[in-house]
Amino acid sequence: MAFESLTDKLQNVFKKLKGKGRLTEADVKVALKEVKMALLEADVNFKVVKQFTKSVQEKAIGQDVMNGLNPGQMVIKIVNDELVNLMGSETTELPIKQGNDLTVLMMVGLQGAGKTTTVAKLAGKLKSKGKRPLLVACDVYRPAAITQLQVNGEKQGVEVFSMGDKQNPVDIAKAAIEHAKSNQQNVVMIDTAGRLHIDEDMMQELENIKANVNVDATVLVVDAMTGQDAVNVAQNFSDKVGIDGVILTKMDGDTRGGAALSIKAVTGKPIFYVGMGEKLSDLEQFYPERMASRILGMGDVMSLIEKVEASVDQEQAQEMQKKLKKMDFDFNDYLTSMEQMNKMGGISRILNMLPGMGGKMKDIEGMIDEKAMDRTKSIILSMTAQERSNPNILNISRKNRIARGAGVDITEVNRLVKQFEQSKKMMKQMPGLAGGKMNMGKRG
Ligand code: GDP
Repeated sequence: MAFESLTDKLQNVFKKLKGKGRLTEADVKVALKEVKMALLEADVNFKVVKQFTKSVQEKAIGQDVMNGLNPGQMVIKIVNDELVNLMGSETTELPIKQGNDLTVLMMVGLQGAGKTTTVAKLAGKLKSKGKRPLLVACDVYRPAAITQLQVNGEKQGVEVFSMGDKQNPVDIAKAAIEHAKSNQQNVVMIDTAGRLHIDEDMMQELENIKANVNVDATVLVVDAMTGQDAVNVAQNFSDKVGIDGVILTKMDGDTRGGAALSIKAVTGKPIFYVGMGEKLSDLEQFYPERMASRILGMGDVMSLIEKVEASVDQEQAQEMQKKLKKMDFDFNDYLTSMEQMNKMGGISRILNMLPGMGGKMKDIEGMIDEKAMDRTKSIILSMTAQERSNPNILNISRKNRIARGAGVDITEVNRLVKQFEQSKKMMKQMPGLAGGKMNMGKRG
């Protein structure tokens, strides 16, 4: 499986950091040196590695550690974020037009990269999304390639357009587009000829097709097992023919992962999909985040994400506490906090995380009955802006009006106002919280 050894090496680096409560600049440097070696051994482009470690180092030193993480975990988080960045941050969709508008894709790549197989895989994917693809056999130099496309097309239940091996690829492509138009097919996928190595004739032929046919996107298929060669191939195609993105095949094999990590950084072109096996169903969308998690070892990253989320909750709770202490907490804040808490899994969870709050939870359970939240919300929404920001003006007639508006009894309005006052009082008595600043001091 791809990345196995990179993952092992990175895990080792992080294991050494994990035990430390405090990281010095020297610790970070040593760790990053090892990360650098691991990436180079995974066949990641050396310029990319250099840039990567530089940027991790800059972020690791001098940054505050997020609440809930120790400095070692913080480094893992920074490495994770940078890996995601390296691979393009977001998933890039293949540019397929909506509805019945015709999209013409030109599929290019070296012989053996997996182009013909990938064309069929992709056709299956598009078909399952409701598209009507047409595969076009333009590799006129290898009759076997035409047969292979036909066999795969049949397996996928997708039509293959062929004019044998005696015609010019430009003419075949043009005729195929006409065929697609008259048969309501809406994605034409031109399977072009590959060569064993980059050569001028091949590039010229691709340029000819592009010059004579309205190609919407050129997709390069490259073999991940070839590591940095795959990146060089991508750069070459990008410079000479122009590509819109890459499909990286054979990621199921024993690849070191370098291609996946370098392609975007070197060529600026995204990876659309990755091939994960020989079967026609083995094609997966490329998600930079998931790939980074896989490289770092899924379990680690998942627990990290949970911790970061927990610390975000804690920050919100602290913010709220600050307001309460200053006594400027009003019903608008109450409403906002309620909405935030709903998102974060409930106020009890957040309050439980505050130091010194554990024992007090029972006292304020009435105030945080989560089932009553909706009713509370509608009561607050029935208040005027003035009433929300200055609850002191809530007299009997105002409370009656609010109760009517919210469709509740006035006793519920009274209860809410009382709880609101109580919570303000209680929060004032709560113990202070320690600051969450990082200890990433310089040694010496
Ligand atoms: P082409 O010359 O570029 O058209 O390459 P082919 O489509 O003929 O594929 C070359 C070989 O790679 C075939 O044996 C395919 O089964 C294999 N192949 C293609 N994609 C993948 C993949 O994602 N994983 C694995 N393991 N093999 C693949």
